[in-house]
Amino acid sequence: MIENKEVETAEEAVEYLLVHLGEDLSRPGVANTPRRFVKAMEELTRGLREPPPEVVFFPLEYKAADPGPVVIENIRAVSICEHHLLPIVLNISVAYQPSDAVPGLSKVIKLVKWAAARPIMQERFTEWLADLLLEKLKARSVKVKVCGVHMCSFIRGVKDEHHSMVTESRRGDLDVRLDCRRPLACR
Ligand SMILES: [Zn+2]
Repeated sequence: MIENKEVETAEEAVEYLLVHLGEDLSRPGVANTPRRFVKAMEELTRGLREPPPEVVFFPLEYKAADPGPVVIENIRAVSICEHHLLPIVLNISVAYQPSDAVPGLSKVIKLVKWAAARPIMQERFTEWLADLLLEKLKARSVKVKVCGVHMCSFIRGVKDEHHSMVTESRRGDLDVRLDCRRPLACR
């Protein structure tokens, strides 16, 4: 949990930023903006403070000599980039080869969304996510594919709304082709 004193300091910092930008803090419309902004940033970075969601396992109850992979495609997640603190909208596809017990579907999705909820650099995040899933899903092998639209290059800087960044990582010899759609429609 963030202490009250720290919240006040964070809200003050946003006030300084607004003044720096030329905003008039006495305007009613922005009276509660520092509080709302801090709350929004807390939500987008909750993975820094909350523990990872507990993964529940179910026995496979079937003796397969070589169990096939489980694929979950296009999990929608949101991050912020660690360089600009602007949103990154993500689709994340994962494949894993389970052990004798399989993790619950919704828990895998929750874990992926939790993992994304922090400041990231997508290239490093993808590697870390592969290691995290390998451990938390007790998987024999894992593959992840991440497709991100970074607002810092979409709405500012190069201002290119058409590109997306695709990163992949693999642990073990899982050979699955993952579909991972661009998270925002491209006109
Ligand atoms: Zn950025």
